[in-house]
Amino acid sequence: MLKTIAVMTSGGDSPGMNAAIRAVTRTALHQGVKVWGIRGGYHGMLDGEMFEMQSKDVSDIIQRGGTFLGTARCKRFNTPEGRMLGYKNLVDRGIQGLVVIGGDGSLRGASILSQETGIPIVGLPGTIDNDVWGSEYTIGCDTAANTIIDAINKLRDTASAHRRIIVLEVMGRNSGWLAMVTGISGGAEYILVPEEEYDLDEICADMKEQYDKGKRYILVVVAEGAGKGYEVGKAIMEKTGRDTRVSKLGHIQRGGSPSVIDRVNASKLGEHAALALISGLSDIVFGFDRGHVVSINLHDAVNNKKKLNPELIRLSKILA
Ligand code: ADP
Repeated sequence: MLKTIAVMTSGGDSPGMNAAIRAVTRTALHQGVKVWGIRGGYHGMLDGEMFEMQSKDVSDIIQRGGTFLGTARCKRFNTPEGRMLGYKNLVDRGIQGLVVIGGDGSLRGASILSQETGIPIVGLPGTIDNDVWGSEYTIGCDTAANTIIDAINKLRDTASAHRRIIVLEVMGRNSGWLAMVTGISGGAEYILVPEEEYDLDEICADMKEQYDKGKRYILVVVAEGAGKGYEVGKAIMEKTGRDTRVSKLGHIQRGGSPSVIDRVNASKLGEHAALALISGLSDIVFGFDRGHVVSINLHDAVNNKKKLNPELIRLSKILA
């Protein structure tokens, strides 16, 4: 049984991280275990920016986006010397284990730290991209998808009024999950994702045909990894001769009060992470599979690439 643990968020922030921190903290305290919060990701670990938390420290945060502990990208942590310094800071405070909430990169860093020092680490997938291998869900992906859908609904109104082509660029440098689920649920005619090749000439010829048949407007959702929205829009305008407008949501997609799904899932994952870590488990990530919380080997999670569900790709083509 561990007696003192710490929790931190790292990498890109995502809505629901606060709910996960709160669940880790309150579960640990419920078990009679001390829990520290590390501020500003691996930067805070290296600079000793950490404090022992009580239940009230995580009051009034479940409804807030972002992460109250702060997050960061930290180059120093990529070096063995940096990681040793971070480890020493943890040991100096009696911290025996760590919960790291973050994306692919943060979990990779956690895996290396645990291998090098032997400190027990449990990871939680926190990223709006939903791209962590072994889990069908990552903390924040539901809120981000809902934010995008809200934008799509508004864009559809104006697109319809003007018979325009609308191109919406959404986040997803390496993962098309957000573009795919929001494209399907927003009724997009075309969804461009990094996982699938596309032929813009073919798409534009098809668009012209659809307008000739009386289509009022066309919506294209493009993941940033599949092409820059403005470039795609410019090419479509040139090839079709149709009025085309481009929107890029940018960081709006990361923010906002977390959805019910993100709050509940993050709470479940946080509880599992704290209990597993306290009981001495290490090198695992908790995620979801078919609606249930599952543990995934940390090494496997960071060394495999999650594939975009082919069922979603197939469905998107039928419904377009
Ligand atoms: P995310 O966790 O959202 O994917 P990043 O990929 O930027 O975000 O990773 C966040 C931080 O995790 C990095 O700034 C770095 O401190 C740490 N990290 C990422 N990859 C590694 C690695 N290969 N070795 C050690 N630390 C890493």
